[in-house]
Amino acid sequence: MSAPEHNKPSVGKITVIHGPMFSGKTEELLRRVRRAKIARRKVQLFKPAIDNRYHATQVLPHFLAHAGDESMQVGEAAHVVSHPREIAALLKAETDVAAIEEAQFLDGSLFELVRRFSRQGVDVILSLLDQDYRRLPFPIAGSVSNVGDYLAIAHESLKLAAICVVCGQDAHHSQKLTLSSIDREGKPIYKPASFFTEVVTVGTSQELTQNKLFADKPLDFPESIYEARCRFCHVVADEPQ
Ligand SMILES: [Zn+2]
Repeated sequence: MSAPEHNKPSVGKITVIHGPMFSGKTEELLRRVRRAKIARRKVQLFKPAIDNRYHATQVLPHFLAHAGDESMQVGEAAHVVSHPREIAALLKAETDVAAIEEAQFLDGSLFELVRRFSRQGVDVILSLLDQDYRRLPFPIAGSVSNVGDYLAIAHESLKLAAICVVCGQDAHHSQKLTLSSIDREGKPIYKPASFFTEVVTVGTSQELTQNKLFADKPLDFPESIYEARCRFCHVVADEPQ
């Protein structure tokens, strides 16, 4: 069977996969990328440079990264970009599908780029962290206010839930915990982050915070850690009532 020629639809489909951390957004995005490849469609995968937790140039499902398996078989080669304009420059004329991982870390100019790709007949698949640790729509610098704008223009959206690490129910929220103290046995004690600590967004000094957060420093405890929690178990310290 040969690949179909020049049968791009006139409008590219915009798909948004969203949910909290640890909800399998990456796995779902990669599943769709693989399906597109089986259908002999040309796919390009992009990821923000800021998402350097697991691997510099591959998008890996998080559970595999946790298991220490960085096999080239499971990951998909990705272009690492720091600005949406790099995606525009890297997109090849023959590409049918542009898949963008952790799109909340790219600035708001991505919004117009997604619309342009769709107009040009390129399918776009985005994975998005939809809420910040305060359970508010994840803020984005630039032309859009938050990730909700991407949901508004999507042709298809898929909301995924993680599992609450406290009670085992479906989790829709990312719990931020900040290092409070070290106990006598040298173990770190974490407490729910204050509503008034800063949200990691792009284009600010907080990029440094983000990089520091996920840097390999085995002897130090990270200032902040995240876990998935349900609404009942999710706590935001100092939250205005
Ligand atoms: Zn719970």
